[in-house]
Amino acid sequence: MPEDPSTATLLIGGEWRTADATFEVVDPATLEPVARAADAGPREALAALDAACAAFPAWRDTAAEERATALGAAAARIRAGADSLAALMTAENGKPLAEARGEIMSSARMLDWAAEEGRRASGRVTPRAGGGLVLRAPVGPALAITPWNFPASMLVRKAGLALAAGCPVIVKPAEQTPLVGTELVRLIADGLPPGVLQSITTTRPKDVVDALLADRRLRKVSFTGSTDVGLGLLRSTADHLRRTSLEMGGHSPAIVLDDADLPAAAAGVAAAKFANAGQSCIAVNRLFVQRPVYDAFLPLLLERVAALRPGHGADEGTTLGPLIDFAGLDKVERHVADAVKRGASVAAGGRRWEPPRPGLAGAFYEPTVLTGADDTMLISTEETFGPVLPVYVFDEDGEAVERANATDYGLAAYVFGSGLARVWRTVDRLDFGVVAVNEPFPVRPELPFGGTKNSGQEREGGSEGIDAYLESKSVSMRL
Ligand code: ADP
Repeated sequence: MPEDPSTATLLIGGEWRTADATFEVVDPATLEPVARAADAGPREALAALDAACAAFPAWRDTAAEERATALGAAAARIRAGADSLAALMTAENGKPLAEARGEIMSSARMLDWAAEEGRRASGRVTPRAGGGLVLRAPVGPALAITPWNFPASMLVRKAGLALAAGCPVIVKPAEQTPLVGTELVRLIADGLPPGVLQSITTTRPKDVVDALLADRRLRKVSFTGSTDVGLGLLRSTADHLRRTSLEMGGHSPAIVLDDADLPAAAAGVAAAKFANAGQSCIAVNRLFVQRPVYDAFLPLLLERVAALRPGHGADEGTTLGPLIDFAGLDKVERHVADAVKRGASVAAGGRRWEPPRPGLAGAFYEPTVLTGADDTMLISTEETFGPVLPVYVFDEDGEAVERANATDYGLAAYVFGSGLARVWRTVDRLDFGVVAVNEPFPVRPELPFGGTKNSGQEREGGSEGIDAYLESKSVSMRL
C-alpha cells in the first residue's frame, strides 16, 4: 500500500515518518473523519529515545541564549499560524474557535516565558565557610504526555520548559487530538537540531509509554491527564526512580461571599465552568453561595447560562462545543440523574442538547445548573468533566472553606468577594495549588501551576516551572 504522506505524524531523529498502521481522527461535533495519523508502537518510541540520547550532549552544551532565541522564534511562528492552528484544534477537539485561538496565543506566551527562564536558570554560590557551589544541569531526555482537552497549551508548556532547560523531549499527544500537537511540533522543531524535539502519535499509549519507562535512559516524565493514569505511571516508574511531574484531576470549588460583586461573580463562575464545555481540570465543579445573596445571585447566573450557544465550534456565535465523546456524556448523565434522585432540582438544562441542524451527531449536553445540591451526591465527590454546575448554600465563611477542602483533589479554587481580610483568610485556608480571586482563568506563564493531594506533584510555569527539568549538583571545594 503506498504511504499517505499526510499520516507522517511521527517526528523521529529529525525525520517525519508514518507507521505500519494509522488511525482516524474524528470531529467530535459531527463524528466525521478529519484526518489520519500514524499509530506508533514501542519500536518507534524507542527509536525516538535513541535519537534523544544522541542529541542530548550537544543540546545541553548549547548556550542558553541560543536555545532561547530558537524558542522565541518558534513562539512567533505559532502566533503567525494562530488561525489555522485554532481551526485544527476546533476540528479535533470541538471547542469554540475563539477558545481555541486563545489557547494558541497563550501557548505562544508560555513558550516565550520558557525561553526567558532558560537564560535565568543559574545556580548559586553559598557562603565561604563550609560553602560551595550549586550547579544546575538538565535532567536528560524527557517524555511529555499530554491530554486532549488542552492539546496545545499542555504540550507547549512542557516541551518549552524542557527544551529551555537543555533537555531533549519526546511529546506524546492524546489519541483524540494528535493534529494540533503535530503542527506545533512542526513549528517548534523547525529551528532545532534533529532529535531535540520529537513526536509520537499512537492509540496504544500504555504500550508506548511503558516501553519508554522501562528504559533507564529516559530521565524525566511530565504527565497531564487523569489521576488513575498518573498514579499508574508513578507505580510503573518505581523500580528505578525518575523525575516525574504530574498534573491530574481536579474538583474545583468556587465560593461566592456575600460581599461579592454579584454580576461579575456570575460572569466569572459561568466562564470558569463552561469554557471547553466544562472539560477542564480547573473547571468549577462545586459552587458555594453564601445564603444572604443566594436569591439575588442565582438569576444572574442563570442569565449567563441561558446566553450560552451550543453548536459546532467553527460556527459563528458558538460558545459551547460538544463533549469529546459519548463516554464523557454518559458520566454527565449519571451525575445529573444521581443528583436529581437525591433531591437536587434542575434550574437550567439537564438533558442532551438537540441540534437545530442536521449533522451535529456528537455528544452535546445543555449547559446545566442544579440547585439544592448536597455533599452526598456523586457530583459532589467526583469530577464531572462536563457542562453541569451544582450549587450549594453556606452560612459561615469557614464552613465554605471546610466543604471546599473536603476532596482528595487540590488543583484550583475560585473566590469571589470584596472585603480584603475575608478574601485573604479564605485564600489562605484553601488547600489548592492555584486560587483565583474575582476572575475565571487562573493561568499565567508567570505563575506556577499545579495541584496538591491527588491533583499532582511539581509545578509547571512560573519561576518554579523550569526546576522540574533541572538537577542540582552541589560542588564543595577546598582550594
Ligand atoms: P483522559 O481520561 O482525560 O482522556 P488520560 O489520562 O486517559 O485522560 O489521558 C491523558 C494522556 O495519557 C493521553 O496522552 C493518553 O494517551 C495517555 N495515557 C492514557 N492511558 C495511559 C497509560 N496507561 N499509560 C500512559 N499514558 C496513558
